[in-house]
Amino acid sequence: MEFTKLRLTGFKSFVDPTELNIARGLTGVVGPNGCGKSNLLEALRWVMGENRPTAMRGAGMEDVIFAGASSRPARNYAEVTLTIDNTERRAPAAFNTADQIEVIRRITRDAGSVFKTNGREARARDVQMLFADASTGSHSPALVRQGQISELINARPKARRRILEEAAGISGLYQRRHEAELKLSGTEQNLTRVADVLDQLD
Ligand code: ATP
Repeated sequence: MEFTKLRLTGFKSFVDPTELNIARGLTGVVGPNGCGKSNLLEALRWVMGENRPTAMRGAGMEDVIFAGASSRPARNYAEVTLTIDNTERRAPAAFNTADQIEVIRRITRDAGSVFKTNGREARARDVQMLFADASTGSHSPALVRQGQISELINARPKARRRILEEAAGISGLYQRRHEAELKLSGTEQNLTRVADVLDQLD
């Protein structure tokens, strides 16, 4: 799986539709202060399912929508599209039917955000799993933001372990285990209730 293109519309400072071709070998983005380098990286994390507004440097998720400038009114929605080359068929099974995968996330004021993969509506969880299984989730250490290197050096062992797990592509398994544990505990509670009801009937 290789990211080939990122398209932004109304996302933070990228009010007009903007396309970034992610050519092979691209390892960094440079530019003057405030030109939108961090916004690009955030768009990439966001389309992969990042759900913490703080990771987007905002108070709420709607803060990713272009908020207006002296010469332009605010936008009502933001959309980011990530195109992935899958000709080598490395995507997880559920997505592995196409040569190209297009993931779209769109947020509309007061209406929340929706995801689409290859034109079909998708759950946030499925999109997060697609990237987690491919060792490149929204928390991926492959995306290095400003200040992250010093954070890494000062990180506690547990936080460092999480980074290694993400790189090894097993963070999706942890998420699935967590969901299975929740289901199990729900079922155990139901069983206890059934036992109580049976006791009352006796
Ligand atoms: P630096 O090198 O200083 O860290 P940068 O190139 O990483 O800068 P960003 O932080 O990506 O720049 O972009 C900052 C710009 O994005 C600021 O001008 C800010 O006003 C603008 N911006 C952020 N959020 C929004 C928003 N919701 N609507 C409009 N503009 C926004």
